[in-house]
Amino acid sequence: MRTPSIAIVGAGHAGVEAAFALAKEGCKVTLFSDEPCLPYFRPRLIAVAFGQADPEAIAIKPRKAYDDAAIDLRHEAVAAVDAAARTVNGALYDGIVLATGSRPFVPPFGREGGEQSPRTLWTMADALALRAVCAPGKALAVIGGGVLGLEAALRAAEAGLRVTVVEAAPALVGGALGPGEATLHAAFEAKGIALRVGVGVSAIVPEGVVLADGGVVAGNVTLCSAGARPNGALAGVEGFVRTRPDLSVAPGVFCAGDPAQPTEARPVCAVRRAQLMGQLAARNLLAGLAGRPAEPWADPALPLFMKVGDVEFHTLGDVRSPGLEERREDDGADPRVWKSVLYRAGAPVGLRWVGTRAGFGDWEKRLARA
Ligand SMILES: Cc1cc2nc3c(=O)[nH]c(=O)nc-3n(C[C@H](O)[C@H](O)[C@H](O)COP(=O)(O)OP(=O)(O)OC[C@H]3O[C@@H](n4cnc5c(N)ncnc54)[C@H](O)[C@@H]3O)c2cc1C
Repeated sequence: MRTPSIAIVGAGHAGVEAAFALAKEGCKVTLFSDEPCLPYFRPRLIAVAFGQADPEAIAIKPRKAYDDAAIDLRHEAVAAVDAAARTVNGALYDGIVLATGSRPFVPPFGREGGEQSPRTLWTMADALALRAVCAPGKALAVIGGGVLGLEAALRAAEAGLRVTVVEAAPALVGGALGPGEATLHAAFEAKGIALRVGVGVSAIVPEGVVLADGGVVAGNVTLCSAGARPNGALAGVEGFVRTRPDLSVAPGVFCAGDPAQPTEARPVCAVRRAQLMGQLAARNLLAGLAGRPAEPWADPALPLFMKVGDVEFHTLGDVRSPGLEERREDDGADPRVWKSVLYRAGAPVGLRWVGTRAGFGDWEKRLARA
């Protein structure tokens, strides 16, 4: 049989997993990347931005791994995909995996331009641009108190910047920490990071960030970390790409990673999800070529966590539904620690751990069995 030729569009976590899985099975793989560097571990961009890691250190695999696997890593932006004709930039392939990831969302703040336009942190170019303007003693205003914004704040503080985090919602990380959030606040304050939670941003001016309550957060640099939007354009959609359960969007054409929505569940940006999708897209592409049945995608239970030095939190399962019963697992003696389990009708459904991970793994297993 002729060697199948596969195009993978996007060399992030989903694309790289798919590329190596398909190359291992003897496919001729072309991996398109619109970034000039080797594919990298995206969460580590935060460490690059604040000078705690060098760009080469966060590569997913060394250059040699692509050469050894005979993967043609092409630094070329894909402008057009025709799913029905199975072409990428006009060239015909036996299979295609769309793995184009997300882009940062910047709300339409009133802006007065210059250095104070908000920066984003999603690509290597963003990280290097941020690194060039961040120096010890500078003031950094972080807009957004999600995992990315909080980790950026901690790493910036470690690098000697004066940091304030502004979050418009009434709670950090979408309310995932519940009453445990006070423990996290204390940990941030101990690092010298100011938190302004429950107040939005109305404008970004040369002096910093103007808040909806009229206050001003001084900032030499403003980082906007207000969520992301899926890159679905090559699949012909503006938002998430609604795939079939096997991740296909057309015969031989699959979508994996952040933009892919195979079930009713709203997709989340997560490395593990993207990797698993890349692997499944590869298996199902091979199954289709061999005339075998495809496997459906099943949404995994993904923990939401952050750890920078001794500041950490870990959540799992349902931590957001109203009406859950919350039972504290620790004795409250250590003010730096919060551990609680959420129950529905007497059965454990969610975990909230702040300041430690001790005991989380055992509960994770119990939840999986419940
Ligand atoms: C700073 C930061 C911190 C994060 N922290 C965490 C974390 O702690 N834990 C976690 O689970 N997740 C985290 N995430 C989210 C996680 O990185 C993403 O969910 C994950 O990278 C998604 O993988 P992906 O393969 O779908 O897309 P991506 O990794 O975004 O890769 C997509 C690639 O496709 C390229 N591309 C797009 N369009 C084209 C085109 N037309 N032609 C060629 N190439 C194209 C993009 O430039 C990009 O390189 C973080 C994200 C960021 C930015």
